[in-house]
Amino acid sequence: MVNENVVFVVKAETGQSAEVQGRFTTYPQGMRIVSALIWLGIGFGGALAFIVVPVLHLLTTWALPLAGLMGAWNSLRTVSRVSHLTGRCPVCQGKLLLAGGRAIFPVRDQCEHCSRPLLIHEHPG
Ligand SMILES: [Zn+2]
Repeated sequence: MVNENVVFVVKAETGQSAEVQGRFTTYPQGMRIVSALIWLGIGFGGALAFIVVPVLHLLTTWALPLAGLMGAWNSLRTVSRVSHLTGRCPVCQGKLLLAGGRAIFPVRDQCEHCSRPLLIHEHPG
């Protein structure tokens, strides 16, 4: 796992933009596969464990493997993430602390002060 501190550009629909500091995390393929296997283990292992529990097994036998499959799929697809974005909202100048998400640009987020949708772009250059 590689963490880098990077400058991103946040844009609002008003056309205003601002630079923010953020973290760019890259997950190597091996780590993504291990993470996917852990999800599958929890999903199917959990379903197997709960099979002896009356009533509850009606739900867990399909819900846990499904959650495991979704978690595994999500782990495999997440090559890199953007997180811990700090700066100022380009519209209201409020202090931003954005959670970010999977690094498929632009990443969508929202200002917590003015509720405007914000698009996080890679810094040009
Ligand atoms: Zn704002």
